[in-house]
Amino acid sequence: MKEKEQILKLRKELSQHNHSYYVLDKPTITDFEFDIKLKQLQVLEINYPQLFDSSSPTQRVGGEVTKNFETIVHTQRMYSLDNSYSKEDLMDWEVRLRKMVDGPIEFTCELKYDGASISLTYENGLLVQALTRGDGTQGDNVTANIKTIKSVPLKLRGNYPSKFEIRGEIVLPFVGFRALNEEKIAAGEEPYKNPRNTASGSLKLQDSTEVARRPLECLLYSIVGENTGIKTQFDNLEKARSWGFKVPSVAKISNSIDDVLEFVNYWDVHRHELPYETDGIVVKVNSLFQQAELGFTAKAPRWAMAYKFKSEQVSTRLENISYQVGRTGAITPVAILKPVELAGTIVKRASLHNADQIEKLDVRTGDWVYVEKGGEIIPKIMGVDLSRRVQDSDKSFYINSCPECKSTLVRKDGEAQHYCPNDMGCLPQIIGRIQHYISRKALDIEGLGGETVALLVNEGLIRDYADLYELTTDQIIHLDRMASKSADNLVNGVQASKQVSFERVLFGLGIRYVGETVAKKLAKHYKSIQALSEATLEDLETVDEIGIKIAESVVTFFKNEINIRIVSRLMLYGVQLELSKEVLLNQTAKLQGQRFVISGIFEIVSRNELKELIDSNGGKVVSSISAKTSFIVAGLNMGPSKRSKADSLKVPIITEQQFLDML
Ligand code: AMP
Ligand code: ZN
Repeated sequence: MKEKEQILKLRKELSQHNHSYYVLDKPTITDFEFDIKLKQLQVLEINYPQLFDSSSPTQRVGGEVTKNFETIVHTQRMYSLDNSYSKEDLMDWEVRLRKMVDGPIEFTCELKYDGASISLTYENGLLVQALTRGDGTQGDNVTANIKTIKSVPLKLRGNYPSKFEIRGEIVLPFVGFRALNEEKIAAGEEPYKNPRNTASGSLKLQDSTEVARRPLECLLYSIVGENTGIKTQFDNLEKARSWGFKVPSVAKISNSIDDVLEFVNYWDVHRHELPYETDGIVVKVNSLFQQAELGFTAKAPRWAMAYKFKSEQVSTRLENISYQVGRTGAITPVAILKPVELAGTIVKRASLHNADQIEKLDVRTGDWVYVEKGGEIIPKIMGVDLSRRVQDSDKSFYINSCPECKSTLVRKDGEAQHYCPNDMGCLPQIIGRIQHYISRKALDIEGLGGETVALLVNEGLIRDYADLYELTTDQIIHLDRMASKSADNLVNGVQASKQVSFERVLFGLGIRYVGETVAKKLAKHYKSIQALSEATLEDLETVDEIGIKIAESVVTFFKNEINIRIVSRLMLYGVQLELSKEVLLNQTAKLQGQRFVISGIFEIVSRNELKELIDSNGGKVVSSISAKTSFIVAGLNMGPSKRSKADSLKVPIITEQQFLDML
């Protein structure tokens, strides 16, 4: 059929022009010619719907509307990056790397694009899915929106693996950002604050036609997948480029930290010439084999490091210092500032950390202070502009009683923070504990938010988290802004929380220093709240990674009559206070006390499965060999220096199979 050929020809031609224009920045025809051809194709496609192709260039104009973005679990977690700010930080990192890998280490240096992260999946050369980072474990399916971005190839070229994931950043270049804002202003609307927020906001627009109108770009930096045949990060970049992705060409290979710093210093100045925002550079260990050896911490890859450019600073007047009481009674001084714009947002408050910090900076009400925004959400006060200090200003005095309940504050030796000791009678502590209990990573109670908790406490309906389980619809329906539906939701949400696992409940109890990870460790070790509450200091300290501070805090918690009563009420209501049967079944103590180093490439189970097996059988995975290592599980390609270190320390090396036999 003649039309079929014509459609295929136009599709190919237009894809080629798209690639030249948006990926290579080298237009091959005029916009006008392009539009004509696109129109032709659109008309042909309407007449021949049987020739529909989801990767056709006509699909980029959008049209799909997504009401609710589906949440999907990432096949491989999307990590964040560790940050460094100085040469020393980078050198310390290199020292850590050398302890864990063999042979010379090469680095790749890339720019750190400041936008919204994205993970794209391709199957047989076609884009099949695009997920936002979300919380790293799961993200939103924004495929329809991503398809409208012209630099995202819908169909790959060259010799690509049949299935892989590729990750990058969606950015909004300055030119496009300015153009969008001009339109906004012309329409009498509030302009967008900065390119980054606009880019990430765009991904979640419901109407993909609107996304298509925004000149977003997608810059790619990593390929995920075990059997791509690629050996280095630098090759990753080149391969991705050859398949049609937009990969900035400024990346380079360095053989030393000094060389990395040259790259940093160059781009710290020249980044202002780039068409999009960057907030630093990313250094990665180039060898993918070494990357696999290094693995990940709970938060970030060990093989990568961000180096942040110095952040923006402004000065403004300190109007007042106010004091907040947290759920643990910790007092945080907060600087109330004359509102000022900083990196695209209006800043009104900044953190002052603690009494020592105020003393050190000698900040006084009325001072002009330098405010800086680092990675944190709340900006920091960096110093005082003494040239603008008014004469006879008064030195700041830290408060000595709680701003909420007037109790005398305490400060333990060696601690920076002041605390209000009145934990059972101080309102923000009472409210804060319940808010923590219901928070997302704890009991995650649906239908109940922080403000409602405050309202319920203020109305005298609850005093601790156990009280939640006695709430009835009748009690809360009269409250301000509480419709009968929300009252039902709240009560149902509370009931549903009885299914939440023990480790999260333990975290939710709000024992000081027992964060998410510690809660998991303790839950796994003691298996029930009963056993944990009976543990002695010495006993707790034998648990891996539990130090004296945590041990003391746990013991203190369970010594308190009030806490005991609350916990037994939770038990009565049916909250999970021991590990579930399924978890227990998969756990043994066969590897109790054993420390493992994993090295090389494995064939029977994946590296992650291996780690999980060690973990759930009571063993511990450590990253470098020492005299305390019990076994090295070695796959293919274990490095020679690891081998000789193992030999000299007489640490037995076992194969994957031998390890599995141990279980
Ligand atoms: P952060 O969110 O500050 O922990 O930094 C991690 C994020 O940096 C990642 O999630 C990426 O989205 C982003 N990023 C930007 N450029 C790069 C790059 N060249 N390599 C790796 N990550 C990058
Ligand atoms: Zn108080």
